[in-house]
Amino acid sequence: MAKDYTLSKSSYIKGLQCEKQLYLYKHFYDTQDKYSEMQLAIFRKGTSTGILAQSLFSEGTDASSSSHFLYKEGIEKTNALMQNQNQTIYEASFLFDELLIIADIVVKHGDLINVYEVKSTTSVSDVILNDAAIQYHVITNAGYKINDFFIIHINKNYVRDGELDINSLFVIKSVKNKIKSLQKNVRSNIIRFNNVLNQDKAPQMDIGPHCTNPYSCGFIGTCWKEIPEYSVFNIAGLSQEKKFDLYYKGITELKNIPREYSLTPLQWLQVNSELNNEKIIKRNEIKTFLSGLRYPLHFLDFESFQPAVPLFNKSKPYQQIPFQFSLHVQEREDSPLKHYEFLCEPGIDPRTKLADALIPLINAGGSVVVYNKIFEVNILNKIAVDFPEYLEDIEKILNCIIDLMEPFQKRYYYSPDLKGSYSIKSVLPSLVPELSYSRLAIKEGGEASLFYEQLWIEEDYRKIESVKESLLRYCELDTLAMVKIVERLKELI
Ligand code: SF4
Repeated sequence: MAKDYTLSKSSYIKGLQCEKQLYLYKHFYDTQDKYSEMQLAIFRKGTSTGILAQSLFSEGTDASSSSHFLYKEGIEKTNALMQNQNQTIYEASFLFDELLIIADIVVKHGDLINVYEVKSTTSVSDVILNDAAIQYHVITNAGYKINDFFIIHINKNYVRDGELDINSLFVIKSVKNKIKSLQKNVRSNIIRFNNVLNQDKAPQMDIGPHCTNPYSCGFIGTCWKEIPEYSVFNIAGLSQEKKFDLYYKGITELKNIPREYSLTPLQWLQVNSELNNEKIIKRNEIKTFLSGLRYPLHFLDFESFQPAVPLFNKSKPYQQIPFQFSLHVQEREDSPLKHYEFLCEPGIDPRTKLADALIPLINAGGSVVVYNKIFEVNILNKIAVDFPEYLEDIEKILNCIIDLMEPFQKRYYYSPDLKGSYSIKSVLPSLVPELSYSRLAIKEGGEASLFYEQLWIEEDYRKIESVKESLLRYCELDTLAMVKIVERLKELI
C-alpha cells in the first residue's frame, strides 16, 4: 500500500545522521543489512520500557493502529480521543505536511497537552532531543497546544528495594525549551530531506565516522563494500580520526601505509607482521608472564546479563548480573583437569547462589586465571559491595587474579591471522585450531545473555533444557580455551 507520508521520526533521525542513509532507507529498503539478534534485543528492551512507563499514567487509552501499514487508523483513534477534555493517550499518532510521528504518551487537560517520550537510556542525548524536536514540530503544526514536553528515561541510580518503584525507576525531564530552540533547524531539515528524497539517485556521501554515530547504519554492507576485509580500520588501538585520515589519503590496505606515518610500536608490529607474514613470539616476556601462575590453577569465566529494569533487590538498572560460571581446576602441572560449572535457574537472584557455589572451589594460594580481568573483577567487586558477607572470600579471589589477555594485548604473541584482535575468540583458533566455537549454538557472550533472558519467559521444557545445555557448553569452552592457551604458551617457550 502506498503511504501518503514521506517522513517519520525514525527516517528524520536517519537523515540527520546521513542523507544517503535516508535515501537508501526510503527507496532501497530491501538492501539494508540484516539486523543482528543483539540489535533486535535492544529494540525489544526499548519497547518493554515504553510499556512499563505507561503505568506512570493510569487510565490511558491505546491509540495504536493494528499494523504499521494502517497508520491512518492510529491517526483517527488519536483524533477521536483528542476530542475529550481530559484524556491520556498511549501511542498517539499525528500527521502534518506528510510527516508522521507517534508520541509515546500524551496527556490532555482542556486545551493543553503534555507529551512524554520514553527512552530506555539513562540520559538525554542530542539524538533524543532531535527526536523530540520533530514531534514538537508536527504536533504543534497539527493544531495542538503543547504545555510541556518531557523525556522519560531510566534513573541509573535507582536501587531496587522490594517492589519495583516505577516512580523512582524513571526520571521525567522537561526538554521543551531545548526543543523549541531546535525548531528552525527542524523546518530547514525537512525541506532538505524532501529534496534529497525527490532526487533520481542517492546523494554522493563518502563513508566516515557518521556511519556508526549515533547509530550503526543499516547500509554499511553497501557503502563499505570496497573496504578490504582486513584494512587500516582493523589496526588495534588506532583512533577513529587516524583511520579516516588514512582512508581520506586513499590508503585502506596495510601495505600502503607510509613508513613515516605515526603509529605506536604495537601498531607497527601488527602491520609488519602482516606484511612479512611473520609470527611474533617474545619468549622472555611469555616466560615471565607464565612464571606468575601459581598452582592450583583456576580458569574462571562468568556470563552475565544486564536487565534495564532491575529484577532483584540491591540491583540497579543495567547492572551486570552474573548468572553462570565455568571453572577448570588443575591442582598441579601433571594432574588431571577438573571441571565445575554453575548455571542459576531463571526467576531468582543468581548472585549469592553463584558466590556460594564458587567460593569453596577456589583453593588458597592458587592463581585464578581469567581473560580480560576487568569484567570478572567488576562482577566480584559488585557482589562484595552488595553482599558484604562475601567480602573477605571475594578479596582472596581478587588477589589471585591473573589476566591471560595480557600476553596477547601486549603482543608477546602475535600472528597475522589475529588481524589486530586479542580477544579469546581470535586467539583460540590461532593457537589451538582444534578447539572452536563455530559448532556451538552460542558463540559469544552477548548471545549467552540473550539465551539466558529467553529462559525467563520460555515455557517449553525441551527448549529450556536445550538452552541450558547451550549455555553450559559455551561457558565451558571459554575456560577450556584458557587451559589450552596456557599449555600452548608453555610449548612456545
Ligand atoms: S554507510 Fe555511511 S555513508 Fe553509507 S548510508 Fe550509511 S551512514 Fe551514509
